[in-house]
Amino acid sequence: MGYVTRIVIIGGGPGGYEAALVAAQLGAEVTVVDCDGLGGASVLTDCVPSKTLIATAEVMTTFDSSYEELGIIVADDTPPLASSARVVGVDLGKVNRRVKRLALAQSHDIAASVTRAGVRVMRGRGRLEGCQTAEGTRCVVVEAADGTAERLTADAVLVATGGRPRELEDALPDGERILNWTQVYDLDELPAELVVVGSGVTGAEFAGAYQALGSHVTLVSSRDRVLPGEDPDAAAVLEDVFRRRGMNVMARSRAQSVKRVGDRVEVALADGRMISGTHCLMAVGAIPNSAGMGLEEAGVKLTESGHIKTDRVSRTSAPGVYAAGDVTGVFALASVAAMQGRIAMYHFLGDAVGPLDLKTVSSNVFTDPEIATVGYSQADVDAGRIEANAVKLPLLRNPRAKMQGIRDGFVKLFCRPGTGIVVGGVVVAPKASELIHPISIAVDNNLTVEQIANAFTVYPSLSGSVAEVARQLHNRKTAQGG
Ligand SMILES: Cc1cc2nc3c(=O)[nH]c(=O)nc-3n(C[C@H](O)[C@H](O)[C@H](O)COP(=O)(O)OP(=O)(O)OC[C@H]3O[C@@H](n4cnc5c(N)ncnc54)[C@H](O)[C@@H]3O)c2cc1C
Repeated sequence: MGYVTRIVIIGGGPGGYEAALVAAQLGAEVTVVDCDGLGGASVLTDCVPSKTLIATAEVMTTFDSSYEELGIIVADDTPPLASSARVVGVDLGKVNRRVKRLALAQSHDIAASVTRAGVRVMRGRGRLEGCQTAEGTRCVVVEAADGTAERLTADAVLVATGGRPRELEDALPDGERILNWTQVYDLDELPAELVVVGSGVTGAEFAGAYQALGSHVTLVSSRDRVLPGEDPDAAAVLEDVFRRRGMNVMARSRAQSVKRVGDRVEVALADGRMISGTHCLMAVGAIPNSAGMGLEEAGVKLTESGHIKTDRVSRTSAPGVYAAGDVTGVFALASVAAMQGRIAMYHFLGDAVGPLDLKTVSSNVFTDPEIATVGYSQADVDAGRIEANAVKLPLLRNPRAKMQGIRDGFVKLFCRPGTGIVVGGVVVAPKASELIHPISIAVDNNLTVEQIANAFTVYPSLSGSVAEVARQLHNRKTAQGG
């Protein structure tokens, strides 16, 4: 029998388990070490639980925002109805039990498919020990919860240990009233007054979801607007919707401390103001799980924020050590983590590999409406990183949107002025995460606005707006003689 390459993967999230499947398929002997369960934070505490909670919120919002206009009668409709919670209530205990059940089932499914592929799964905490040996191998020590340790020899190691919620010294979660995003699923009752600190993607998603479920939400944002990293037109639509639905959005308000006072919380702002609520959710970013793993001793260079430095094929500065996912700080998305992990294995095991291309990544903010983006952004165009024409079409003009009572949202496309090649897009709409796909395909394959405009869309459909925006961009190009 010939030599079998040994791969050890530390961390069983999407960065780790997707890599394991690829490496096993390419004939390597693979071990995945994880301390919490396969699927990682993505499946157990982050993506899967939050999107399951949001599934309930979405039904509530759709109902609340359209039932009157669509002629639906609610038996005990006692006007005025300020929020759907008065008509349709939510049993948060039941919702959260469903969330946890689903997350656990998905973790088991992943463990089963990884094991079926011939991968060894070890429960424990992994760390690198020492540098590369003269034979070119690496040593990983795995410590189990009972204190026993096992040493593994690997030809290559992939570090995919993810991250965890950042904590502020004066606002430490207690798991009951002051919570981080991994703790909210233990709540049995809906927070009556929820203060969400942080208006990035996580803060905005939870603020929107709890507002829809019936909480009174205050969103504390240190910046000028919610979602400072997203398309400004999209963020403006969302902020407007949030306020219209009764959310208290506080811009330029930096939270300094959060204290529990009996059954309430008090959030002190840097300017001296005080906000009170029944619960507080801290969503102030994440920090990488890179400490205490022997990384620097093994020659792995970290950034100042503790992220592992990688190149576009997931190599770290240490030979034989690769890294993928949130621990690299490249793009905190499950899809990117998985791609980085696969690329690492293709690279090490000598398969054909293309370097990571962040310009084709599509992402979504799961608020209502959703905000989906792909490719070059408005910020790239404004900063001159790319020359592009843009057209934005409000959904208000779309016939399907009118029929469904959808008022908020738009489709925006960016294309190169001369060729009309689509380089980016933004969709703000219900289910924008599904509508972005044709634009992703266009960006990935250098399709032109003309090609998008010429493809049939169903009448009536929201995707008709994608074709219509492309048509307008194409007409503009033709009018300019492009
Ligand atoms: C609230 C929230 C919602 C999100 N929603 C989405 C979404 O809808 N779509 C999307 O694409 N992304 C989403 N993300 C981002 C996504 O969750 C991450 O990008 C993804 O989890 C990164 O995967 P990973 O493999 O790097 O790490 P993780 O999923 O964090 O997994 C890492 C695993 O490694 C384990 N580990 C850590 N240290 C060790 C060690 N020393 N030894 C052994 N095991 C270790 C951890 O316990 C964990 O199980 C969301 C994030 C948050 C916070």
